[in-house]
Amino acid sequence: MTSETAAHEAHSLRLSEIFGPTVQGEGALIGQPTVFVRTGGCGYRCRWCDTPFAVLPEYRDQWQAWEPEAVLDEVDRLAGAPVLVTLSGGDPALQELGPLIRPGHERGHTFALETQASVSQSWFADLDHLTLSPKGPSSGHLTSLGEIEACLDASGAEPRTVFKVVIMNDPDFDYAAELAANYRDYPFYLQVGNPVPEGEPEPDELMRRYRWLVERCLSERWYAPTILPQLHVLAWGNARGV
Ligand code: SF4
Repeated sequence: MTSETAAHEAHSLRLSEIFGPTVQGEGALIGQPTVFVRTGGCGYRCRWCDTPFAVLPEYRDQWQAWEPEAVLDEVDRLAGAPVLVTLSGGDPALQELGPLIRPGHERGHTFALETQASVSQSWFADLDHLTLSPKGPSSGHLTSLGEIEACLDASGAEPRTVFKVVIMNDPDFDYAAELAANYRDYPFYLQVGNPVPEGEPEPDELMRRYRWLVERCLSERWYAPTILPQLHVLAWGNARGV
């Protein structure tokens, strides 16, 4: 590799896909039109991950290097107007996204990012929306409070920051409740987990799980969180690119 090539790659982003506009199917921005920019690579291997094509090294040859300006040109082409850009993954916090966000604001776009909160970045402070989505026991990982604190410190007062926790079972619920007790000043979103992240999910089963989560919350008299299903899974199943 020449030094010129190395420098070029150092400034480019490793992306799994760019698609949209569609609607955000989860969390605080649910239902909002958005273009997704999905990075490749993640430090976790959650058991129920629904984007293995953006996580596992065997898909790495499908990921492409994009210059930040080219990403913004593609967002402009897809959306045709200023739009909410959702930075997702994989874990988008693994990459240097400041050079995408700052010029993107100049083009009128707003930026939301979701991360499991295991890696903090100074450019979190440039975001409009930050969703910290620490993983509970069913994932096979546990995000530490120290890592979460580092993300909150990095984001400062700028982005609207919320927590979102995927709930597959009772231990996940308990994990979310403990987390919420630590971070009472932040909005919490509980999202019912999809037990069939590949193939066709069964809508009745997803809604049964949603009812269980609502009932569990109400029976605990925990009224602060917003409890949501994955809207895009109900609308489109596990299809990619919608
Ligand atoms: Fe998948 Fe997210 Fe877990 Fe990474 S953190 S493995 S992208 S669910």
